[in-house]
Amino acid sequence: MKGVGPRRAADLQRVGLATIEDLLYRFPIRYEDRGSFQTIASLRPGIAASVVGEIVGCGIRPTRRPRFKIFEMLVRDATGSLRAIWFNQPFLNDIFRPHQRVILFGKLELTSHGLQLQNPQYEILRDDDGDATTAGAAQRPDDDTLHTGRIVPVYEKTGHLTTKMQRVLVHQALSQLPSDVPDPLPPPVRARQSLIDRRTALHDVHFPPEGTPLEALNAFRSPAHRRLIFEEFFLFQLGLVLRKRRAEADRKPRAVVITDAIRESARRVLPFRLTGDQKKVIAEIVDDMKRPQPMNRLLQGDVGSGKTIVALMAAIVAMENGFQVAFMAPTEILAEQHFINIRRLLEDSRFRVTLLTGSTPAKKRREIQAELAGGSLHLVVGTHALVEDPVAFRELGLVIIDEQHRFGVLQRATLRSKGQHPDVLVMTATPIPRTLALTTYGDLDVSIMREMPPGRHPIKTIAKPESRREEIYDFIRRQVDEGRQAYVVYPLVEESEKVDLRAATEMADHLANDVFPQYRVALLHGRMKQDAKDRVMHAFARGEYQILVSTTVIEVGVDVANASVMLVEHAERFGLSQLHQLRGRVGRGPHPSYCVLLYQHPLSDQGRERLKALTETTDGFVIAERDLELRGPGDFFGTRQSGLPTLRVGDIVRDHAIMEEARREAGAALDDPSQHEMLAAFVRESWAQRFGLVGVG
Ligand code: ADP
Ligand code: MG
Repeated sequence: MKGVGPRRAADLQRVGLATIEDLLYRFPIRYEDRGSFQTIASLRPGIAASVVGEIVGCGIRPTRRPRFKIFEMLVRDATGSLRAIWFNQPFLNDIFRPHQRVILFGKLELTSHGLQLQNPQYEILRDDDGDATTAGAAQRPDDDTLHTGRIVPVYEKTGHLTTKMQRVLVHQALSQLPSDVPDPLPPPVRARQSLIDRRTALHDVHFPPEGTPLEALNAFRSPAHRRLIFEEFFLFQLGLVLRKRRAEADRKPRAVVITDAIRESARRVLPFRLTGDQKKVIAEIVDDMKRPQPMNRLLQGDVGSGKTIVALMAAIVAMENGFQVAFMAPTEILAEQHFINIRRLLEDSRFRVTLLTGSTPAKKRREIQAELAGGSLHLVVGTHALVEDPVAFRELGLVIIDEQHRFGVLQRATLRSKGQHPDVLVMTATPIPRTLALTTYGDLDVSIMREMPPGRHPIKTIAKPESRREEIYDFIRRQVDEGRQAYVVYPLVEESEKVDLRAATEMADHLANDVFPQYRVALLHGRMKQDAKDRVMHAFARGEYQILVSTTVIEVGVDVANASVMLVEHAERFGLSQLHQLRGRVGRGPHPSYCVLLYQHPLSDQGRERLKALTETTDGFVIAERDLELRGPGDFFGTRQSGLPTLRVGDIVRDHAIMEEARREAGAALDDPSQHEMLAAFVRESWAQRFGLVGVG
């Protein structure tokens, strides 16, 4: 591009703009209407205004401060004259001359010099028709103006790239665009969805045609927006559908069969009656296992809904069919808890279970590896240690992954590759909102459990300000005196981990010595060695401590039925889903349970909303939807390992209706044999690199 030398190119590259396509697909973040001019006589302070007029005079005005320069200008229209000033932009002296006609856009300030525009955006009109004094409210400049005199795009300032530079570059790129820009949308899809063509859309999204309602633009709902968002989602969905269809062509070495003996074997293990939802999802899972294609299923169930037993039923079916099972959990404590549970339940069976984690001693590890390879071990519960290389199986038939989005896509793929197209069951306790599950995880089948096992007391949640701390301590005393246990949780903010750690440590001392001297108080934090953590956790589970002060390391999975109080300090600092997970640590036994959210002022609007949502509902699905609304999808999963696709123009939440349309159209388009090859090629080119995709492998 003209004007982009090596330096500018490097700047652009640094902010992710390497190609013209990158540039054109970086949409304005908003639009301003600088199109209707006001007469100078009608101007009032405080408003933003566009005026068009003739320069009466201009120049640099000296100031008392040596390096501080003011460029000033007087413009005139038919109704009056107005001053405009720019600070420290002496080069303007080379740009403007008297008698030029200009458009200025900016905010009007009332100063001691009268009404004036400060640092306005400007545009010089080239169609010098001589009689500048006739410029008035009704006049429109020619279509070439970029920064004023029209609806102008406003871009996010990134690095050295200002909104104005970007506007110029985009305009230039658009003017050089060939008339036949290739369009991935098949004509029938475009027609059905009433979408404008790609080239027009690319132009209009940056430089909207006259008459486009500003509200539609700023809501990303103009025809140009809709067309381009649809295009992105369509490609994304094509990718998902193709991937899913390809997976359907995979064949397991053998499918699972179900006999009465197997049913009986599973039944013998059950410690309780399954809920209706548990039965339903087990049926869905077993149906998948019986098919010749590998299962690829996501099981969503709120904290405490009883996913473990569902996984175990699937494991028994696999093992009865002669397959081995790998069960992967995100932390050692959790893996160990699963292991202890499962070993107990399988005690009377012929299946051999083991635990493999990072802290398994080397000798034991080698034994386990040999037995897994030989096939004499049937089920291995473990952490990411399972993914590590030397672990090989004789015939891995089922992979179960708990708390899925703590694992990266790669780790899942690696574990899966240790079998020959094994069945894969992914379980998550953070319910993924429906809008995301259907569309983003489109290549997974989804099972949902909403029902809780019987006999649960709903957890009572209250939010209290710091000033009520003493009452809360009293409440904890009463609970502990009745024989219960309590958690006290501190937030850990990464940037100041040390500070927070000190706060948690000091608080544990304070609670132990001053507040609850009659009880045993333990501290658990992320910096502790794994075995120290495990010791504390086990002691708490056995009731040796009454109060556990912790940073958020207990967030996932632990199960202490006697704990009835969860006190969250600085609740305003936690995310909604995180608070919900923490709350799920109590209410796991027969006792009424309580979650106390202690907050400090000042409370942001979002913080207030979060606390309110939490006191209003215990339904994890409702919480997840609210969380998504409040935070947007990027933050919802934590940005990095989110596994969410990197979309350039669409927003999964804002545009979910378009996503659903795109999904339907993508399926239909691929069913059309005349389109299939072209579309698959398009996806291969653009999809693989652009969307870092969610999915199992
Ligand atoms: P999560 O879905 O959070 O992993 P778990 O599988 O840990 O939940 O189950 C939570 C608790 O509920 C466990 O103590 C488990 O034994 C118990 N549980 C699960 N299903 C039932 C049921 N159908 N009836 C009674 N208790 C159940
Ligand atoms: Mg669990």
